[in-house]
Amino acid sequence: MRTNRTFTMIKPDGVANNYIGAILNDITAAGFKIIAMKYTQLSPSLAGKFYAIHAERPFYNDLVSFMSSGPIVAAILEKDNAVADFRTLIGATDPAKADAGTLRNKYAASMSENAVHGSDSNANAEIESAFYFTAFEQF
Ligand code: UDP
Ligand code: MG
Repeated sequence: MRTNRTFTMIKPDGVANNYIGAILNDITAAGFKIIAMKYTQLSPSLAGKFYAIHAERPFYNDLVSFMSSGPIVAAILEKDNAVADFRTLIGATDPAKADAGTLRNKYAASMSENAVHGSDSNANAEIESAFYFTAFEQF
């Protein structure tokens, strides 16, 4: 299993608040290389599939509705130890608990609208990357 790639989305709030450039700049400044990237919008059905792992959680319906509410930026990132290092860069799920300087601390307003997604394992990084990108779209 690959250990040097992770998958990210700039969520609808991050895009709506005009943070695409700032977030991508922080990501590349932290040493991540962009292997694939797409500016797109999820339908409710696709958002539901992407977050199917959370289907039984109380926040699932709100999450699906939020994630399909506007455009997002999806990307595959490459760096040694990508999954763990990117989780460190984005910070805690709740921006109020995210360390200073993390993406969620800098760009997110709430636990639900928290600006950035990051894969939580190498296996999920592969599944989530394949959800958006074919092999021909990965460089
Ligand atoms: N989420 C939410 N309320 C919660 C927990 C999570 O709205 O109590 C949303 C939030 O957008 C989060 C996403 O669901 O980023 C996925 O949750 P997870 O626990 O996987 O957090 P993450 O891995 O994104 O930090
Ligand atoms: Mg997660």
